[in-house]
Amino acid sequence: MNSEVPNSINGDGNPSDKSRSLYAEALEVLAGGVSRNMVRRQPHPDYAESGTGCHVTDVDGRTRIDFGNNTASLIHGHANPVVNAAVIEQLQGGTGFSMATEAELRFAQHLCARNNGFEKIRFMNSGTEAVMAAIKASRAITGRPKIAKAEGTYHGTYDYAEVSQNSCPENWGDKALPESVALAVGTPQRILDDVVVFPFNDVDRTIEILEAEADELACVLIDPLPHRLGLVSASEDYIRELRRWTHDRNVLLIFDEVISFRMGYGGAQDWYPEVKPDFTALGKIIGGGFPAGALAGKSEWMAVLDPGSAKFGLPFSGTFSANPVTMAAGLAAMKLYDQDAVHQLNRLGVFARAALTALIHKSDIKACVTGVGSMFRVYFKESPPVDYRSAWQNESESKMVRFMVDYLYRNGFMLIGTCTAALSTAHTEKEVEQLIACFAAGFDSLRSRL
Ligand code: PMP
Repeated sequence: MNSEVPNSINGDGNPSDKSRSLYAEALEVLAGGVSRNMVRRQPHPDYAESGTGCHVTDVDGRTRIDFGNNTASLIHGHANPVVNAAVIEQLQGGTGFSMATEAELRFAQHLCARNNGFEKIRFMNSGTEAVMAAIKASRAITGRPKIAKAEGTYHGTYDYAEVSQNSCPENWGDKALPESVALAVGTPQRILDDVVVFPFNDVDRTIEILEAEADELACVLIDPLPHRLGLVSASEDYIRELRRWTHDRNVLLIFDEVISFRMGYGGAQDWYPEVKPDFTALGKIIGGGFPAGALAGKSEWMAVLDPGSAKFGLPFSGTFSANPVTMAAGLAAMKLYDQDAVHQLNRLGVFARAALTALIHKSDIKACVTGVGSMFRVYFKESPPVDYRSAWQNESESKMVRFMVDYLYRNGFMLIGTCTAALSTAHTEKEVEQLIACFAAGFDSLRSRL
């Protein structure tokens, strides 16, 4: 359908596909044939050959426009020449030392200058680790065992952080007092007991739930723009009340900005100028395409990581933490993502959401567009969700999402599997218009099947 999409796309699984035969081999050695469940596709995952800018080509020579950007981690798309040059220079000088590096110092200075709440920072290798460090630091500081998080939010794979990430109508319980539901089989009951779950954006219920646990709570963990809750942002009122309550109760407030940091020069927390969290967990885009995580926060609290401080309580290390390749890539990528780039990318997001919304209004498909800044998501629901329970998709809504993501993929566009797009600075209005044209054809195709 889309004449401007580089090659003919055939995702129907041609028997001669190289991807198909690679997958057959992979099934012999990799559990489930993959290392990340999200790359699985039917009848087999496609294997990437190369990427440049907003295009990715697979091993069978099919090129697609990438709106997923490795789950929102590539803010400049693939193989950005400035980032590459910084990485190549660092590669030639070595990739890891049991020594401090200037690369780590320069990147720390850059990130701390972006947000005046980032008084100190520590690097690690993933968003999971950053959230884990924030939780453990909060426990060490307060001496209390429990954490609180919003129902349905994704914060990585640390046991505590993944509680109720995937709860469902059969087990989520009363909306006013959501159950703590295990994600992984075998999660110890004592972990569930130590995770307090509250309904996102519901000030009164959340405060009521927190109040009942105040004496045992170390921290409240909140993502200001949770993807799994529909990319709906936390209201100003909600964040202000969380800050007020946590401050009054000496509970630490953690922002998970692993995805949302792209929203502003200093992160999504720029939306709430009156509020500063105690800790911010970072990841994804700050690595410039390489594995990265960071914990940033007030000096007073970050001292818990400092073996030279009287406040030391959390030994935290990692072989590849602050490796100079990630540091060089991250610094180059984040320098390029300056105030102008942030604004320009967010404007492209406004353009995309408006065009998609107009298309939905024109077609008689029951759907809506959510998202903020450089991200958007499509739901096959009449009105946008406001929390995890309203974001929950029934079987027919989920089927339509799968159909649309697959349709776009077969016609040359990659999105995150939830029908979510994360724009990069490599996109222009042209690629967005191409995507919207494909959505239009996809809606037509979907309508003919309903
Ligand atoms: N927090 C959020 C909000 C995330 O979206 C993710 C990853 N999708 C993580 C934490 C975990 O990051 P990582 O995959 O780098 O461990």
